[in-house]
Parts: sequence; structure tokens; C-alpha cells
Amino acid sequence: MNKEPRFEGNIFHHPCSVESCGREGCIGEGVNLLKGRLGQWYCAPHYKELERKRTNEKRIVTPPPQERQGRLL
Ligand SMILES: [Zn+2]
Repeated sequence: MNKEPRFEGNIFHHPCSVESCGREGCIGEGVNLLKGRLGQWYCAPHYKELERKRTNEKRIVTPPPQERQGRLL
């Protein structure tokens, strides 16, 4: 299945970028049709998943400082 966003005639096809997904993407990233950039597209559930993953990655990149302090009382 062709996952690349593309024009067929006047129709802009932009399938979800997730390999196993057969849905049409409804949210595009890095899209600039005037510059010929067709971007990457995701269906709503996969876009949410991607956002969640990114949020998690950010957490990993900047872990909160963990100080080893304990309260005795
Ligand atoms: Zn999808």
C-alpha cells in the first residue's frame, strides 16, 4: 500500500503514515502544498498516540531531578 501523500488528478490522497493502518489521515504535519511539501499524515487515533509518545519522550529527555532525601520523622 502506498503511504506517500500524493495527488491523483485533482484529488489529494494522504493516508495515515502508520504501516498497519488503512485509514485516511486527517491530521497532517509539515504540510506546505505551496512549497510542494506533502508532509506526513495520521488518522485521529494514531495522531493522538504519536502525541502521547512525544510527551513521554520529552519526559525521558528531561527527567525530573531525583534527590535521595528521606524523612526520618
Ligand atoms: Zn492510522
